[in-house]
Amino acid sequence: MNGTTDQTRHQDRVWSVAEHLDDVLSKIDPLDPIELQLLDAQGCVLVEDITVPVALPPFDNSSMDGYAVRAADVADATESAPAVLTVIGDIAAGSGELPGIEPGQAVRIMTGAPVPPGADAVVPVEWTDGGTGQGPAATMRAHSAAPQDAGGEVRVHRPAAAGAHIRARGSDVTEGEPALRAGTVLGPSQIGLLAAIGRGTVRVHPRPRVVVLSTGSELVQPGEALGPGQIHDSNSFQLTAAARDAGAIAYRVGAVADDAETLRSTLEDQLIRADILVTSGGVSVGAYDVVKETLAALSAEEGTVEFRRLAMQPGKPQGFGLIGPDRIPLLALPGNPVSSYVSFELFVRPAIRALMGLPEVHRPTTPAKCTEAVASSPKGKRQFLRGSYDAEAGTVTPVGGAGSHLIKAMAHANALIIVPEDTTEVPAGAEVDIVLLG
Ligand code: AMP
Ligand code: MG
Repeated sequence: MNGTTDQTRHQDRVWSVAEHLDDVLSKIDPLDPIELQLLDAQGCVLVEDITVPVALPPFDNSSMDGYAVRAADVADATESAPAVLTVIGDIAAGSGELPGIEPGQAVRIMTGAPVPPGADAVVPVEWTDGGTGQGPAATMRAHSAAPQDAGGEVRVHRPAAAGAHIRARGSDVTEGEPALRAGTVLGPSQIGLLAAIGRGTVRVHPRPRVVVLSTGSELVQPGEALGPGQIHDSNSFQLTAAARDAGAIAYRVGAVADDAETLRSTLEDQLIRADILVTSGGVSVGAYDVVKETLAALSAEEGTVEFRRLAMQPGKPQGFGLIGPDRIPLLALPGNPVSSYVSFELFVRPAIRALMGLPEVHRPTTPAKCTEAVASSPKGKRQFLRGSYDAEAGTVTPVGGAGSHLIKAMAHANALIIVPEDTTEVPAGAEVDIVLLG
C-alpha cells in the first residue's frame, strides 16, 4: 500500500501542528451514546433533553422545625399575649398520614415534612414555647425530644403570614419543564438534579477506553532493578495518568520490546477493549523503530497509519491512523518522555475529549509575561517549552531547557510556553502564549 510516488511525497512534507491536529480530529466522532447509572455518567455529555416528570418539591413542605398553624390564628400573637393553640400531633419528614387542622389547632412539624390540610403557615419553634408552657429558652430542647403529647398546648409569640416557612409544591421546578439540555456536561449539581427528579440512569457519550502501550527493549517496570543500558518505563505511566486526567478510562499495557511480532500481536489483543490506542517510542528513523516499521506496513485490511514529521519541537515524529476491523484511532507518539507528554496534551487529549463529545476539547491558553529570555528557538518550528506560570503575577518562567529528556523539569511545570514558528528568540519580559496544564 505504501511506496507510490504520491504517497511518499505526501509523507515527506512537513505538517504544521494545526494540520496534524485537524487531521486527527476530522477522523474522530463522539462515541455512540449508552445508558449509564448516574454516577458513572459524571463528567460525560448528556445526549438527551431531560424533562421534569414531577414538580419539585412534589408537595408543600415545611422549611423549618416548628408548628404548622392557620395564619389567622396567630395574626395577633405577641410576646406578652401569645396565641395558645392545641397541638393535635406530630408530622415528621416522610410522614404520609396528615391530620387536618381546625381553627385553634397546630401540629408540630419537622423540616421537609408535608404541610397538613388546613394549615397555611409554619411558625418556627424559636417563636414558640415549644409546647413546654415555659419560655422560649426551653423550646429547642423540647423540639428534639419525643413526640409531643396530642392535646398539649403551644404558645406562639409572633404572627406568621400565610405561606410563611412553607416551600410550595413546584417552587423549584414544575412538571414538564426542561431540566437539562442535551450537550450538558454532567457535574455534581447536574447529577444531583437528575437524582432529585427521579432519574436513575441517563444517556450520554461514554468515556473512551484508552489503551496505552510503550515500546522499547530498554524499558523496565518501575519497582524492578535496572540492568546495564536499561531505564524505567515512565511514559506508559505518564500517558495513562494523562488519559485519565482527560476523562478517559485508561488501560496501561506494560512496555513492549522492540520486536515487530510482539508489537503486532499486542496491538491485536488490545483492540478489543480500545476506543483509542496510544503508543510511545519507535517512530523515528532509527534501526529499531519498530512502531513505524510495523504500522506503516499494515495491509489495507488491517488499517492505515501514517507517519509524518511535524514542524514542532519537541514531538517532531508522529504517527496517526485507524486500525483494526473497527478502525480504532491510533496515535503513535515519540518516545522521549517530554515529547510523548507534550504530544499527548496537544493531540491525544483533544481526541479523547472529542470522543466524549465535549464542547471544549483543548487546554485553555492565556498570554503571560515571560520572565526570562528564550534564546535560539528553532526557526520554522513551533516550540513548546515547559514553564512555571504564576497566575497572580501573570508571568511564566521557563523550567529546565528544551531537552526532551528532562522529566524532572516537566514535573515542575504547570504550563507549556508556545514559541511560534517564526520566532527564534523571546526577550525577557515579552508576552508569550502559554497552554495551562491545569
Ligand atoms: P524512541 O522514540 O523509541 O527512539 O525513544 C526515544 C528516547 O526516549 C530514548 O532515549 C528512549 O530510551 C526513551 N524512551 C522511550 N520510551 C520510553 C518510556 N516508555 N519511558 C521512558 N523513556 C522512554
Ligand atoms: Mg525506542
